[in-house]
Amino acid sequence: MKINEKQIELIDKQIKRLIESNNFYGQKLKEEGITGINSAQDFENLPFSQKQDLRDAYPLGLMAVPEKDVVRIHSSSGTTGTPVIIPYTAKDVDDWGEMFKRCYEFAGITNKDRIHITPGYGLWTAGIGFQNGCEKLGAMAVPMGPGNTDKQLQMMMDLKSTVLCATSSYALLLAEEIEKRGIGDKIHLKKGVIGSERWGEKMRQRIKTELGIELYDIYGLTEIYGPGIGINCQYDTGMHIWDDYVYIEIIDPETGKNVEDGEWGEIVLSTLVKEGAPLIRYRTHDISRIIPGECPCGCSYPRIDVIAGRSDDMIKIKGVNVFPKQIEEVIATFPELSSEYQIRISHLEGRDTMRLYIETDGTRDFVEMAKKVAEKVKSRIGFTPIVKVVELGVLPRSEKKSKRVIDERYQ
Ligand code: ZN
Repeated sequence: MKINEKQIELIDKQIKRLIESNNFYGQKLKEEGITGINSAQDFENLPFSQKQDLRDAYPLGLMAVPEKDVVRIHSSSGTTGTPVIIPYTAKDVDDWGEMFKRCYEFAGITNKDRIHITPGYGLWTAGIGFQNGCEKLGAMAVPMGPGNTDKQLQMMMDLKSTVLCATSSYALLLAEEIEKRGIGDKIHLKKGVIGSERWGEKMRQRIKTELGIELYDIYGLTEIYGPGIGINCQYDTGMHIWDDYVYIEIIDPETGKNVEDGEWGEIVLSTLVKEGAPLIRYRTHDISRIIPGECPCGCSYPRIDVIAGRSDDMIKIKGVNVFPKQIEEVIATFPELSSEYQIRISHLEGRDTMRLYIETDGTRDFVEMAKKVAEKVKSRIGFTPIVKVVELGVLPRSEKKSKRVIDERYQ
């Protein structure tokens, strides 16, 4: 997937705007003597932008328009340092709403739906993003925000909400509550639009079956508008990204070079028409891949796979980039296995070894199980791990995927 003429033209405009505004990226361009781009090659030579650049620009250093044109700011949570502030013009807010409306439409949601919105409202882009798109669509928004499960369920029943917008963990919590209270027949949900967290296939299946709804995964990040820059369609073959607003690349996080379509790497995004705070070649650290070929829905928006983790989680073994998500997906295909696993990488007798610990319910022979999993992992990542099968409940429980990988090579 290459950048097209139209996108090159739009990026060129963004570059000229950034140079004029003299913000961090404008200065970077000046230092490198870049005044514009004419080709895909020029584009690939543009410098990356990083989260740290955005932090350094705190509070309003990203602003690329006169302040009178800024109508709103949003901010990322800043749990790991200085927060990032993104200024929006009226057009930015409108564009974002249009993208989000398109997300709902791709999920088959219409102005007859009642959309129950549980992500938080405020400085961050979650709740208000879902809300903007809903109003543009003309559907009825039920702006709940998070928390207060009793009230959530009451409103859901009384208002007969048909769409649930939530994080995966909150959707699961609500699904479990509905089951526990035996109120499933009073719930009218048909679809779920789930955003912002990575989630395994097993969790997805649980939400789907317990709530009896279709699920749609939404993609986005505060730095680039917010949630709503892409979603999967009814064929569920990956998330379509709105490349008339945002250009997407996948790079090898180590070399910074573009990878072939279909290969895993880090998502890098460039805004094409943003005014308040355009970003060019922004490294998201999210890991995914472009899904090659065409979607049965017939639209030409490129597709990416489910977010497989952060580039910081990437492990290089025997020269191959491996992500915990790939292992997780293999495990999910075996109903006899729990969703827990542990990966240990060591360097023994001059070579890297990967041991994979998995848990089984004991309905199958351990040796046979190990062999089957090893074969499947090999077909996925290209080499055979040593698989150790343990009994259910033996592995430590952890919310964080990164904790499931123990690299003993450099200890
Ligand atoms: Zn599609």
